Amino acid sequence: MDISVVIPLFNEEESLPELEAWIRKVMEANRFTYEIIMVDDGSKDRSWEVIEGLTKKNPNVKGIKFRRNYGKSAALHVGFEAVKGDVVITMDADLQDSPDEIPALRKMIVEDGYDLVSGWKQKRYDPISKTIPSKFFNGVTRWISKIPLHDFNCGLKAYRHNVVKSIEIYGEMHRYTPLLAKWSGFGKITEKVVEHRARKYGTSKFGLDRFINGFLDLLSITFIGKFGKRPMHFFGLLGMLFFVAGFATLAWLSFEKLFKQEYGIADRPLFYFGILMLIVGTQLFVTGFLAELLVRNSTTRNQYVIEKKVNG
Ligand code: UDP
Ligand code: MG
Repeated sequence: MDISVVIPLFNEEESLPELEAWIRKVMEANRFTYEIIMVDDGSKDRSWEVIEGLTKKNPNVKGIKFRRNYGKSAALHVGFEAVKGDVVITMDADLQDSPDEIPALRKMIVEDGYDLVSGWKQKRYDPISKTIPSKFFNGVTRWISKIPLHDFNCGLKAYRHNVVKSIEIYGEMHRYTPLLAKWSGFGKITEKVVEHRARKYGTSKFGLDRFINGFLDLLSITFIGKFGKRPMHFFGLLGMLFFVAGFATLAWLSFEKLFKQEYGIADRPLFYFGILMLIVGTQLFVTGFLAELLVRNSTTRNQYVIEKKVNG
């Protein structure tokens, strides 16, 4: 199969028929074999009935429905588990992304050899309350991840089949699939300017809290990517620095007290600094050990992406 289109959706009943018709038109014009996987993230409107109707009309449409709203990442995750196509396209259900982009995105994966191509809504049709924080958010993400994308959060992305089978999206990590891909060893990542359209029906499902959550997720994902399999190297180093600083400070104070007959070291600010450093340092150490215990028991501790094998 050439292409799998994964569409996470939450209360998008009006958009779905138009979206399906448009994708079908593009696929047929290019003679692609394809599937459209619509993941209903616990919609409260008639989205699921609409999907059922579409599957009867077009056997390439597949539907998955959550019992409740788990979020876009969860929807993408189960979609990715189901995909069969060589190239996997994700797009939003609200008609803000154009299916006309699909052939060019596919070409970049199949012919130019990219692992992931992210859409870039260079000209956006969103309120300014969204576009300005978004610029900042993308800047920080670019800086931390060293992946030169302008628009991490774009719903329209294309992946090589192996990429979606090797990464695991959870929480709200759908914004960071390029980071997950990079850490799984799929480093050929680029972007393509895509057409963005104003939302035709319904309303946005995300509020401003997306930026706070997004930033916290960025911190976690960076930490996990770097130290997820060896947390002690992070906590241990910090713990050691703090502990040594505290110990040296207190040793110095004790020395003064013993040999210089200085009284009342408990009045000196350094005394409290020394004690605080000792305690914090010890806590960081213990945290590191606990984290190591967790990693030791995690099922992913030896999960690696194998690219090729020879003779076996
Ligand atoms: N979505 C989802 N689950 C949610 C929230 C959103 O599946 O809990 C879907 C939504 O239906 C849409 C896509 O994720 O297909 C992007 O959402 P939206 O268009 O509201 O985001 P925005 O365009 O405002 O960034
Ligand atoms: Mg949208």
